[in-house]
Amino acid sequence: MTNTAGAPGTPLRVAVIGSGPSGFYAAEALLESGLDVEVDLLERLPVPYGLVRFGVAPDHPKLKSVTTTFAQIAAHPRLRFFGNVEMGRDVSVVELGHLYHAVIVATGADGDRRIGIPGEDLTGVHAARDFVAWYNGRPGCESMHFDLSHDTAVIVGQGNVAVDVCRVLAKPVDALRGTDMAEHALDALARSRVREIHLVGRRGPVQASFTPKELRELGMIDGWQPVVDPKSLELNEASRAELADPARPHAAKNLAVLAGFAQAPTRAGRRIHLHFQQGPTALHGRGRLERVDFRSQRLEGPSGHQIAVTADSVMSLYAGLLFRSIGYRGTPLPGLPFDKLRGTLPHREGRVLDEHGSVVSGWFTAGWIKRGPTGIIGTNRACGVETVASLLADLPSLPRSRPGRAGLEALLCQKRHRAVTFAEWQAIEHAERERGRHCDKPAEKFVRVEEMLEVAWATGMQEPV
Ligand code: NAP
Repeated sequence: MTNTAGAPGTPLRVAVIGSGPSGFYAAEALLESGLDVEVDLLERLPVPYGLVRFGVAPDHPKLKSVTTTFAQIAAHPRLRFFGNVEMGRDVSVVELGHLYHAVIVATGADGDRRIGIPGEDLTGVHAARDFVAWYNGRPGCESMHFDLSHDTAVIVGQGNVAVDVCRVLAKPVDALRGTDMAEHALDALARSRVREIHLVGRRGPVQASFTPKELRELGMIDGWQPVVDPKSLELNEASRAELADPARPHAAKNLAVLAGFAQAPTRAGRRIHLHFQQGPTALHGRGRLERVDFRSQRLEGPSGHQIAVTADSVMSLYAGLLFRSIGYRGTPLPGLPFDKLRGTLPHREGRVLDEHGSVVSGWFTAGWIKRGPTGIIGTNRACGVETVASLLADLPSLPRSRPGRAGLEALLCQKRHRAVTFAEWQAIEHAERERGRHCDKPAEKFVRVEEMLEVAWATGMQEPV
């Protein structure tokens, strides 16, 4: 008997885990497949949008406008949002596998990479990811403490997250007040005494992964000046060749911006120092961070594949605050395979693979947990399309009959667990905007799950179980 899932009247029932950009784009690809589908979007928090809500910098509101598209996807009659439903806590991988024809894991990259040097656990050393989650009001981060009483901060890594952290540390707090930054962060930043920030990369200006627009912004912060040693912009032959490499579309523009920084006359004020070819080797301090040691790095290897090799000279920075911003990292979902080295779900064109490289039937993946933590929000659209194409190609081998949504609802009811609907999320969003109106902010986010649930349940759109 052929599998009729997806034919009119026999919907293909798919659960998508995670409601960040990759979850929404995978859901959109399913809804646009032309098949009869029923898509359930599971999210562990009561609120959707993942890194768009908790990762994008508050002073970059344009990037957040993609949520309008996501809300339109959520309004599709074939999609249902199940907020406040956590894998492992409320439903297991085995249970979900029995409920749906297919499951797409789009859980993003929830952890961060460690540098792997002595002293990384000293007080004052933080993951950039935690700082970002803190200023964006992610539940669970509201009581984190970043000691901003030091005058010098070091950021290791030269991607856009590092630049976001640098900009938020530097910007006068009044320039952040009109954003949806969490109030606890605005309060702490208002008391910040940071006057020198060092943004340190292990490779050269051509290999840095920030983008020109973000880099340029560092030169536009009132009272601050970016400082670049012109010598650090001298390129070896392989780096010169990389300037024309289509794989590095931002390199030439970045270099021009950096050259502008290097040539600018020195002004009085606070400084952002951009260092290149410096690799951190050790963090020192008695209980808390006091000094960061770096070794200069030589670039070796062919153009496009140069790696940083430790050279001889040593640089030390005296600082009480350090953020490692060297990339996010996926975390395993209990019951599914995991590539510990890459921090991703092993996959082939979005099909989850077990430890022997065989396809785990019915399980798919999209976004950062699939590809690793690279690319912009829009990159996830093509990624979701690829995954859904694999899912549709595998349709004949997927299980025939699955209860889908009705089964999930029955399971949650049996466990006396209540999910947040999209309408309830919209009530939370409305309440956040109302709170924001009182302090001239686009929104004053709730930073605790309990507060979010209180608003959701108060909407009365769903009776408690
Ligand atoms: P990223 O772009 O991958 O940058 C990571 C940085 O860490 C690189 O400079 C990398 O240098 C460095 N690094 C890695 N391992 C290191 C080590 N052991 N020691 C020293 N340095 C090390 O990652 P990200 O900044 O976390 O950003 C993630 C993604 O989100 C990116 O695609 C980014 O563009 C995107 N994003 C975009 C925006 C925006 O559009 N405004 C904002 C935030 C994030 P090597 O190159 O030498 O490895």
